[in-house]
Amino acid sequence: MRLADIGANLTHASFREDLDAVLVRARAAGVDTIVVTGTSVEDSRHAADLAAARGLYATAGVHPHHARDCNAQTIPALRELARHPKIVAIGECGLDFNRNYSPHPDQEKWFVAQLELAAELGKPLFLHSRDAHPRFAEILRNLRVGKAVAHCFTGEADELRAYLDLGLHIGITGWICDERRGAHLRELVKGIPRDRLLLETDSPYLTPRDLRPQPKARRNEPAHLPHILRAVARARGEQPEVLAEATTRNAREFFGIA
Ligand SMILES: [Zn+2]
Repeated sequence: MRLADIGANLTHASFREDLDAVLVRARAAGVDTIVVTGTSVEDSRHAADLAAARGLYATAGVHPHHARDCNAQTIPALRELARHPKIVAIGECGLDFNRNYSPHPDQEKWFVAQLELAAELGKPLFLHSRDAHPRFAEILRNLRVGKAVAHCFTGEADELRAYLDLGLHIGITGWICDERRGAHLRELVKGIPRDRLLLETDSPYLTPRDLRPQPKARRNEPAHLPHILRAVARARGEQPEVLAEATTRNAREFFGIA
């Protein structure tokens, strides 16, 4: 079985000591395509270097939490980074009205700037949206966004409908394994067309709550992707092997990985 983890924050400090072992476990688990998430200009540089050194891929973008730190150099720096052969998408970018680490006007300004950059470069988008429906979908609609994935989808039915109508791919994480806040996703994932479904761990975050034993310090890692695959397959009434093949093909097509 081969799997693609489309969202792993492997530049996170928690991986500094043992990334070799983490990648060995990922490969042993069949996770042979990993896209490292870039969340700021500096972090995206780090992600691109990591991808080049380790045979991975990466995104280049600024997370809405960091929108307040953007300036006139941000977009030119991302444009330059996007030329790196391992950078396969612009992002993560979007809106986060849950934590509100950056003011909404800043978030919207730099979200739109990154949408425009992706359109200019013809790159797919890795999108983050948290408690930002319907504003998020409205911006995507106004800008006629092309190829994009709503990463770590955790929303409700109307939000999913809006994204599917916009032609988005949908990224599902171990949130679906959380019986307290992710149970609704088990119903909703049935409505995602198989050719638009992508899987991700969002490591080191979102360790599946029903994983036994729970990993040390509850750190999530790409090797846990098969657990998420099985949860999604169970919810959709599909064979894990079939879903693994489909989601891996989707990921490689989406990011243009040969
Ligand atoms: Zn995110």
